[in-house]
Amino acid sequence: MANPVLPSSGVLAPLGLDSVRVLPGFWGDRIALNNEVTIAHCQEWEEREGWIGNFRGERPRRGREFSDSEIYKLLEAMAWADHPGLPALAEIVARAQEGDGYLNTRWSGSRYTDFEWGHELYCYGHLIQAGVARLRRHGEDQLTEVVTRAADHVCRRFMDTNETCGHPVIEMALVELYRATGTERYLEMARRFVERRGLPALADIPFGRGYYQDDVPVRQAQVFRGHVVRALYLASGVVDVAVETGDQELLKAVESQWERTVARRTHLTGGMGSRHADESYGEDYELPPDRAYNETCAGIASIMLAHRLLLATGDARYADLAERTMYNVLATGVALDGKSFFYVNPLHVRVPATPLDGVNHAAEGGLRSPWFDVSCCPNNIARTLASLPAYVAAAKDGGVLIHHLTPAEIRSGRLALRVETGYPWQGSVSVRVLEDGAGRIGLRVPAWATEATLAHVPASSPDAPLPEGPVVRPVDPGYAYVEGPWRAGDEIRLELPMRPRWTVPDRRIDALRGSAAVERGPLVYCAESVADEPPLAGVTAQVEPPVEHEADGVVELEVGARLASGSNGSWPYGPARTPEDGTEVRLRLVPYHRWGNRGPATMRVWLPTI
Ligand SMILES: [Zn+2]
Repeated sequence: MANPVLPSSGVLAPLGLDSVRVLPGFWGDRIALNNEVTIAHCQEWEEREGWIGNFRGERPRRGREFSDSEIYKLLEAMAWADHPGLPALAEIVARAQEGDGYLNTRWSGSRYTDFEWGHELYCYGHLIQAGVARLRRHGEDQLTEVVTRAADHVCRRFMDTNETCGHPVIEMALVELYRATGTERYLEMARRFVERRGLPALADIPFGRGYYQDDVPVRQAQVFRGHVVRALYLASGVVDVAVETGDQELLKAVESQWERTVARRTHLTGGMGSRHADESYGEDYELPPDRAYNETCAGIASIMLAHRLLLATGDARYADLAERTMYNVLATGVALDGKSFFYVNPLHVRVPATPLDGVNHAAEGGLRSPWFDVSCCPNNIARTLASLPAYVAAAKDGGVLIHHLTPAEIRSGRLALRVETGYPWQGSVSVRVLEDGAGRIGLRVPAWATEATLAHVPASSPDAPLPEGPVVRPVDPGYAYVEGPWRAGDEIRLELPMRPRWTVPDRRIDALRGSAAVERGPLVYCAESVADEPPLAGVTAQVEPPVEHEADGVVELEVGARLASGSNGSWPYGPARTPEDGTEVRLRLVPYHRWGNRGPATMRVWLPTI
């Protein structure tokens, strides 16, 4: 089963790349672009920046202390994509491995001298995930050998210590290697890494131990906090350990931390992160649109965690958040040409960015960059898109649950299905049964789709009575089911309401008081202003039904607004006054994931309404 997450138990069993083929469409096109363009782009830059040369022993060593992990994420992407360049790159990595399994181009010679910032175990984590991908997609080879030697080294070195890594990921990687190989010490090592965190296991730092989730043990934490990617990678590993050891208390702990984090620390796009200095969550309801951090990797990590919780519990709310984050963070993170990337994803950009051709030395920026000094996000996008078919559907009790509505061919048990849809632009989804079969089919109805309908259209056949015609029934958000048995040609039609909707924030999110945003289907929209288009400062939107415009299959929206310049005085505060009239304008709204593709722009998701 070619799958990045393959729990041995849980309510749902994920279907892998060998069971789900994503066909051309919103995601199918992005997966193809990723596998053909983005993977090569990443390899080219890793070669150009010397990060691959580090493995060849080229000196001076180049890149940050964790740059090895980028080559491993790229290898994972190549493994899922069945990319022909993998064996040669794996060979370069293999040659850098030391006799006892140790492998790191930065710390060889001064091993394990900086657990807080050294990222050695973090790098192993990504290496192991690449090896698991290769094993499941292709079978054993040189890369999988390198990985088991490295994992064995980690177990020998760390099983009986109190040490752990400042950046989690080793936990979920070791559990997955256990799942792929059956070697129990990998699970035990992961369990110990989880349990020793927060005792504490790491030194205090200026950001505080909460930065790397070492402030309290995982079981006692109330909410995700600190560095967002670290928090979500750790939580993913904790779910994996909980599922494999049958530790319900541990699973419940993560579920309740997730619940509070989603209710109080998550931006409309599904993005997480409100502070730039330490790439961290803010306090509850600290969700400023302009200072939103929302690292692309944090969005990916949130998808990884939500997917794990979905498999463990079968609860559709996890798929809802994963979908929101896929369309509004993952899809935003990469340009339409597959060659430039966002690191941070704020919801309000006040000043158009300056175009950059080379490496972006900062994470900031209102334009996508071809590469960064810290290039976690491009490689993370590459491996996520390459494995995306594995997130689409799952098996349950001999049937199939479809979480993500995308054109696809799905085969599992006695079901062979073809999904056709123009989602997320259109709300009609057709699931056609390809062969006679049996098993319940479930389709996820997103939480926002409160007026959805489902129809079962039986196949017509010359030797059967005429079908009675479709039975249309309303369905609630969650999973809508249709029972088998099935005949080839049977069809299920799901209709989702795609009217644009105005969304307002919780009153406790002070930074958003008086604002509203527009969503349509799973997409968050934003106002974008390039070149000579009207500026977005001083805008007041009229909350009225948006007008839809469709061009080249993309739905854009338009609302009325007033533009006022403000006081123009020397002091921007003054006595209370009635709203200024300003100039009437029509405000064009584009899907947030498409912003920044037309050149330097200002942008805002939340539109003041008063
Ligand atoms: Zn990143």
